[in-house]
Amino acid sequence: MSERQSTLLAALRQAVGAAQVLTHDDPGADLSAWEQDWRKRVHGRALAVVRPGSTAEVAEVVRACAAAGVSIVPQGGNTGLVVGSVPDDSGTQVVLSLTRLNAVRGLDAANLTLTVEAGCVLQSLQEHARQAGFLLPLSLAAEGSCTIGGNLATNAGGTQVVRYGNARDLCLGLEVVTAQGEVWNGLSGLRKDNTGYDLRDLYIGSEGTLGVITAATLKLYPLPAAQLTAWAALPSLDAAVSLLGLAHQHLGAGLTGFEVMGQFALSLVDKHFPNLRTPLWRDSPYCVLLENSDSESETHAREQFERLLETAFNQGLVSDAVVAESLSQAQGLWHIRESIPLAQAEEGLNIKHDISIPVSTIPAFCAETDALLQREVPGVRLVNFGHLGDGNLHYNVQAPEGEDAKKFLAEQETRVNGLVFDAVARYHGSISAEHGVGSLKAGHLPHYKDPVALGLMRAIKQALDPQQTMNPGRVLVSP
Ligand SMILES: Cc1cc2nc3c(=O)[nH]c(=O)nc-3n(C[C@H](O)[C@H](O)[C@H](O)COP(=O)(O)OP(=O)(O)OC[C@H]3O[C@@H](n4cnc5c(N)ncnc54)[C@H](O)[C@@H]3O)c2cc1C
Repeated sequence: MSERQSTLLAALRQAVGAAQVLTHDDPGADLSAWEQDWRKRVHGRALAVVRPGSTAEVAEVVRACAAAGVSIVPQGGNTGLVVGSVPDDSGTQVVLSLTRLNAVRGLDAANLTLTVEAGCVLQSLQEHARQAGFLLPLSLAAEGSCTIGGNLATNAGGTQVVRYGNARDLCLGLEVVTAQGEVWNGLSGLRKDNTGYDLRDLYIGSEGTLGVITAATLKLYPLPAAQLTAWAALPSLDAAVSLLGLAHQHLGAGLTGFEVMGQFALSLVDKHFPNLRTPLWRDSPYCVLLENSDSESETHAREQFERLLETAFNQGLVSDAVVAESLSQAQGLWHIRESIPLAQAEEGLNIKHDISIPVSTIPAFCAETDALLQREVPGVRLVNFGHLGDGNLHYNVQAPEGEDAKKFLAEQETRVNGLVFDAVARYHGSISAEHGVGSLKAGHLPHYKDPVALGLMRAIKQALDPQQTMNPGRVLVSP
């Protein structure tokens, strides 16, 4: 270890207490929980993992690292899917874990806001809001481990975006430690504030490359009086898009979830988790999961749902459907949807794509790209599912049946990514809808992002982090 590194470690121990600075030199040290990403694609090596307990301590850590010229990798729940929250393998980076910043600072019922620290686990915040009679409508399958700081840093989406928007839309204010170690208190609960550039929106979605989010003020909503879930079988993706339009018409703001699942995706759930009893998938190319949240009553919600489904049957959009009779049935249906990534992992390694396309052109995109992939890589299996209500598909590509998945990935990932991303570009879509860029997609950005936008992004990075110490190599790579 260099003298500069030892001096830095001493300063970090001074800042946060020796017990909160973990290194490989500690007896019995195992830092893999912080060094390995969720999908186990990368196992880096950190100089240290530092766990500050307050905003002031975060600021001290950032100042010490800046003085030493050492780069920082902010980390929340480490559930990110694009390799953004783990260190590289140089052994020189500091992982800044935010999980000890986990206090709820206050709930303002009249203002419908909740102010919380960055390391709070999303599910605990949903529960906190619910106990006070409110809804915090950010919801994703990783909610038991991801943190609100990570959600904001990645501008996470999830299953209720169709009604409430993504993490950005749910955030009114931020507290941030800048790359220089200053604290910006932007914890405003204001819904209107036109006093210049929106710094909050710069830090949201910046994936730890501009500064460290230490706290946030979030929007709350009234709890709905009833929430109903339906599962419908459909003859085609065209029918799914038409059903979405119909659901908007019939349910209005009550439409809080609209997920699509392809037959092969559901067959994997049935194969690997048969006890979940996946309904209606065998005879239908697609199934859709709909959620209706109603401010009046369950009877009203059910009537609305029945009218919608009846119209859809009459128009030939839906061939069969079930409406959950109880909360546990509804949770069971959502659990099937959320089990698709796990079923896919059981089947073997795969090439993941998190893309968005204007909803209207999704059927044409899929028809064209499915055929293209079959032509170019015969036998590949498409695990297509996602948040159709937001135009967001997880268009994943699994190795042909019986083929070694690791070998397939090594040989085909670059080519398959190119085919899919080029198709996304032709359809005016985005190569990252909700997971972010991280280091996994940073190299692709120069090919698919408008060059003027990329130039502006570089200028922002240079202005806010001139030393380039905040999560280097993520989002932007050197030109
Ligand atoms: C099973 C599963 C399902 C998922 N479903 C969805 C989904 O539906 N929608 C969706 O959008 N995502 C989904 N994800 C991805 C992931 O959960 C989200 O990206 C989540 O927002 C990451 O939060 P985290 O606390 O784990 O952040 P981490 O993984 O720790 O970090 C993610 C990025 O944010 C940065 N970061 C973290 N905390 C801070 C901070 N306080 N300040 C500055 N930068 C920070 C990191 O440096 C990194 O670049 C899923 C993941 C899994 C494993």
